[in-house]
Amino acid sequence: MAAVQLSGIYKRYGDTQVVHGIDLHIDDGEFVVLVGPSGCGKSTLMRMVAGLEEISGGDLLIGKTRANHLPPQQRNISMVFQSYALYPHLSVYENIAFGPRIRKEAPASFKPRIEAAAKMLNLGGYLDRLPRALSGGQRQRVAMGRAVVREPSLFLFDEPLSNLDAKLRVQMRTEIKALHQRLKNTVIYVTHDQIEAMTMADRIVVMNAGRIEQIGRPLELYDRPENLFVASFLGSPSMNFAEGIVVKHAHASGLALKLADGSEIVLERAPASATTGAKVTLGVRPEHIETVTQTPDVTMQVEVIEPTGAETHLYGKIGGNTWCVTTRQRSEMQPGERVTLSLPAAHIHLFDTESGRRLV
Ligand code: ADP
Repeated sequence: MAAVQLSGIYKRYGDTQVVHGIDLHIDDGEFVVLVGPSGCGKSTLMRMVAGLEEISGGDLLIGKTRANHLPPQQRNISMVFQSYALYPHLSVYENIAFGPRIRKEAPASFKPRIEAAAKMLNLGGYLDRLPRALSGGQRQRVAMGRAVVREPSLFLFDEPLSNLDAKLRVQMRTEIKALHQRLKNTVIYVTHDQIEAMTMADRIVVMNAGRIEQIGRPLELYDRPENLFVASFLGSPSMNFAEGIVVKHAHASGLALKLADGSEIVLERAPASATTGAKVTLGVRPEHIETVTQTPDVTMQVEVIEPTGAETHLYGKIGGNTWCVTTRQRSEMQPGERVTLSLPAAHIHLFDTESGRRLV
C-alpha cells in the first residue's frame, strides 16, 4: 500500500486549464472520495494519478516515487470504472485471472488469490459463468475482483456504481466499504453523488471548477462547511439559505438579518465581522429547524408536503427561497397552512454573500 501526494497539480488542454493547482496528501490505507458536480475535474485528476492523462504541471508521488512520467503499468494501481469492461467470452474466473495470466504468473501462484477474492466478493458459486449470465452487481464485483488480485498499492474507482439501480448502489456502497475495511488499502474514489461520498469516505475532497473547495471528514464538512458551495453541495435535502442585510434588530437589542421580503431573523450569534449593512447569507439544515408554537424565528406557508415514511419534508418559501423543513412527526398539515419555526442558534451557519466564505 502507498501514500499519495499531489503538489500543485494542474491540467491544461491546449489553452484551457481545467485543473488548477491541486494540493492533496492521501495517507497509506486511507479512503478518499473526490466529489463535485459534473465537469469539475475529478476524473481528469484521477486519470492523471492513473497515468492515463499527462500531468501538465506539479508533482505526483505514489509512495516515495515521483510518478509523473511513469507508464500506467508501472504505477502499481488498479482501477475500477463505471463500465465494468469485462471480457464477454471469458468466465468469471478467467476475467479475474486475466491480469496474472498476461503477466505470465504461474497458475499455482494466482489461483489461491482468485479463490480468496471470489470468496470475499461472494462470487464463489459463479466462477464458471460468463458475464452475460450475471446481474449488474455481480459484474461490478467481478471488476473489483480483478482489481483486488493485482494487490496494487492504490485502488482508483471512477464512478463505479453509476450504472446500477438505486437498491444495488446502496448494497455495493456497503460492500466496497467493507472490502476496504478488510484490505486496508489506499483508495481514491470519484463520484458526483454526495451520499456516496458521505457514507464511504474517511475524508472527502469537495471539488468545484478544477479547484478544491474543502477537505475533511464527512461530518466535519457537513457540520462546518467553509463556504456556500460546500454547504449547498453536501446534504439531502440540501441546506436552506436566506440572503439578507445585517441590521439593528427592530424590536430587541442585537443584530438581525433583514431579508428581501422585509422580514427579519434575529442573529443570536452574529459574527464580529458582521456589522450593519453587511450582506450575509444564513444557512440552516432542514433537520435542524424546529416547529414551535411560541416565539418563532420565521413563519412559512407550506406549499408541498412530502412524507417519506421515516420523516416528512415540508416545503415553502422564506425570503424568496424555497426552504425544506424535516420533521420526524407525521403531519396532518395541508398545503396553504402556516408553520411557525425556530432556528436554533447552534445550527445557524452564516456566510459572506459575496465571497461565499463562512463567517460563523
Ligand atoms: P468530472 O469528472 O468532474 O465530470 P472531467 O475531469 O471529466 O470532470 O472534466 C473536467 C473539465 O475538463 C470539463 O470541463 C471537460 O469539458 C474538460 N475536458 C475533459 N477532457 C477534455 C479533453 N480531452 N479536451 C478538452 N477538455 C476536456
